Amino acid sequence: MNTQIVQFIKSAADPSGFIADGLPQIVFAGKSNVGKSSVINKLLQRRNFARSSATPGKTAHVNYFKIENRLYFTDLPGYGFAKVSHTEKQRWKKLMEQFFNEPYRITLGIMIVDARHKPTADDQLMAAWFLDTGRPFVVVANKLDKLKKSQVDGVEPLVRETLGLGDDEKVILFSAETGTNRGALISEIEKYVK
Ligand code: GDP
Repeated sequence: MNTQIVQFIKSAADPSGFIADGLPQIVFAGKSNVGKSSVINKLLQRRNFARSSATPGKTAHVNYFKIENRLYFTDLPGYGFAKVSHTEKQRWKKLMEQFFNEPYRITLGIMIVDARHKPTADDQLMAAWFLDTGRPFVVVANKLDKLKKSQVDGVEPLVRETLGLGDDEKVILFSAETGTNRGALISEIEKYVK
């Protein structure tokens, strides 16, 4: 997979914009500031392709990036922003319910959590949505570079326990900063792309 052959396709604000053209979709989710755009940019080897959700209050969208005309990276809007208005949170929730209502869109779910902290209640909800689809699912524990060596071994068990993962789900320790395990994540994605 040559992730450098990538095009931004569209930003969907409602289900009429959701893509269902038969190409595999690798669907990324994560709370705001967890480094979701950094992980996507690291996979694409681009500095600033996927945009950071660092601006609170930005309208929730599903963003589609097409790679080599073979697959999509589907970027779900970040969640868990304390400053976002009630209306905006409701909009996010509705959009996600509509998205997960048609789980056949998801070839592989990738949820990004912060390796430094126990996954949040919002993370638990998002993981449950992915698990309910019955589609393959990987959790990426990002910002590994910020951990002390002695803390690394504790990450996977805590993530598994908190998110209720089963034997089928992989946890990949990752750093978008240093590129740790970029290869492992690419290999995982490639398993699901012809
Ligand atoms: P998003 O809101 O989830 O898209 O998060 P961003 O990709 O904008 O990242 C949020 C902040 O975390 C930025 O300041 C990034 O530079 C930083 N960041 C993202 N990934 C990592 C990582 O693996 N290690 C470190 N040290 N910082 C990271």
